[in-house]
Formats: sequence, C-alpha cells, structure tokens
Amino acid sequence: MIARSASWKNALATAIRDPAELLALLELPKSLLDAAQQASKDFPLRVPRGFVARMRKGDIHDPLLRQVLPLREELATVAGYGHDPVGDLTAQAGDGLLHKYHGRVLLSATGACAIHCRYCFRRHFPYDAQRPARDQWQGVVDYLRAHQEVDELILSGGDPLMLDTPQLQGLSKRLAEGGQLKRLRLHSRLPIVLPERVDPPLLQWLATQPWPVVLVVHCNHPQELDQDTARALGQLHDAGVTLLNQSVLLAGVNDDSATLTKLSHRLFEQQVLPYYLHLLDKVAGAAHYDLPEQCAQAIHEQLRRQLPGYLLPRLVRELPGDAAKRPVG
Ligand SMILES: *Cc1c(COP(=O)(O)O)cnc(C)c1O
Ligand code: SF4
Repeated sequence: MIARSASWKNALATAIRDPAELLALLELPKSLLDAAQQASKDFPLRVPRGFVARMRKGDIHDPLLRQVLPLREELATVAGYGHDPVGDLTAQAGDGLLHKYHGRVLLSATGACAIHCRYCFRRHFPYDAQRPARDQWQGVVDYLRAHQEVDELILSGGDPLMLDTPQLQGLSKRLAEGGQLKRLRLHSRLPIVLPERVDPPLLQWLATQPWPVVLVVHCNHPQELDQDTARALGQLHDAGVTLLNQSVLLAGVNDDSATLTKLSHRLFEQQVLPYYLHLLDKVAGAAHYDLPEQCAQAIHEQLRRQLPGYLLPRLVRELPGDAAKRPVG
C-alpha cells in the first residue's frame, strides 16, 4: 500500500514543467519554444508523463497537446475576456467555499492541479494558496451548520484529489459529524490525467463513506481514455461511486460531433455517463479556444441526432449571478 501511494505522488512529482522537454519528447520544432516560455510565465506548463504518452508525436495539432501547450495566442488581449468570468472571486463565502446554487455548496479544497489546462478559468487564481486543513476545516463545518438547507458538499479546486487520502479522511470525518449531508461530490481531472491516483487507499476511503459519492471527471477527447483510465474508472465504479463527465467545448480540440460522439461512447465503455458540455468561460488568454454560440448549438444538435438520450451531455454556460448552469439552445 505504501508503495502504491508513493507511486501517484511520484507520477505527480515527475510531471513535465519545462516546455523544452515537452517539445523534445514529442519531436516538435524548437521554434515553438519562445512562445511557450513567454506564455507560461503567468500560468506555468504542467502535464503528467502518462498524459503526454497518449499524445501523437510530431503533431502540433494533437488534441491533448493543444490543451496543455502554452501558445503565443494566450498573450493577446481580447475584449470580453476577463480575469473572473464566472464571478467566483465575488461569490466566495470564505474558507474556499462557494455557495451559488440551492442546496449545494462547493469547497475549493486546494488550489493545486496535476495538469494545467490552458483554457481553465482558474488560470488567474492564486494557484498555490493552500486551503483550510490547518484549522481542521472548522470554517466549513461552521458554514454548513449555519446553512441547514445544504445537503450536498462538492469538493473542487483546483483538484480535490491533490489532497492525499489521510487529508480527505480528515475532511470527510468532520463533515460526517454534522449529519446533514446526503451526498458527497468530487470534481476531479485526476482519474483521467493521473490515473495512478486511484489507488487502494483512495478506493477504500470512497467505499466507506456514510453517503453516496458522485465523482465528476473531466475529459474532453476520446484519446484521453486508454487502458490506464479504464482500470481507474472501473475500480471507482466497483467501489460504488457514481461516475459522470464534464467536458469543455474547445476549438481545435473537440469542436466536431464525430469526436464528441466517440467521447460519449468511450466514456460509457469506461463506466462514465456524460453530464455537461460547457461553453468556454470567457477568461483572458483563452479566447482562441472559444466558438460562436451558434456553432456550439449546431454541434450539439448533431449529437442529439446521433446519441441515445442518456449519452447526450447537456450544453450549458455559466454566467455570474445565475441560479444554475444555463442551458444553451
Ligand atoms: C457548477 C457549480 C455547482 C454544481 O452545479 P450542478 O449543476 O449541480 O452540477 C455548484 N456550485 C458552484 C459554485 C458551481 O460553480
Ligand atoms: S481546475 Fe481543472 S481545468 Fe483547471 S487547470 Fe485544474 S484540472 Fe485543468
């Protein structure tokens, strides 16, 4: 067990952070390096080696590479793309809590991620700020006690599975004392980008929670799913976790119905149901990933014609002040 848990931390620690190394591994031209270095100053490159292994060598258009390689386009200032596109900085309830929607509250348990997705709306957040563990999550406990209508806690981030399993145990123990929660949800990209994280201690923790656990993974392209994710997701499923997926619709990555249809099929093969297909949050530095809303609707309409209803993700946009994710189309 110790060896296994050391192994996900090892996979994390050896993630690629140097653009020159990434380009060399993928046999890509050195001419991309200057832009990659410029664009990674504010939001560094980070990508686990196992994820890089799923990329095609020599292909600058590879859909996985495109999610992580810093490009010159990120440096452009584009009107309408800002630093807090979904209003999270103003919605903070304190201690990393975001309470925007009825009955569920989101806890940003850590700012850290195993991968840095270039389109992420959190790219301007203070990523390294570590959260509550110091006070044993007292602020979270107090907040829940004062808001008895909340029956679901969502662990998010950053990526909550960046916390190690003893930290997760400490948190869920505190949450269970209050007795008010009916569901625990995690939003994590780790089962996809660092499947080593799904190890026996984590599975043991998930299987022994006093409430049903929902895990929303984040996968954008069928090429992200391989035999390693199949192992991780299969074991999560066997531990009784309800598995859902959210994707972001990204120009040059997954903006066609054939890719998204294949994604839904492959997710289902790996025990995951599609949940949301998000339109891009209008964050500065990510405008080159955006698509006009009509294109998004047209793609979604094609999906609707090709997929059984249960494999069709809901196309949504998040806008500040809304009471829920807003359906598009
Ligand atoms: C997206 C989000 C949720 C979850 O919304 P669901 O529609 O239930 O998936 C909850 N809280 C916040 C702050 C969110 O941004
Ligand atoms: S929060 Fe999610 S989308 Fe953003 S960088 Fe982390 S893993 Fe990627």
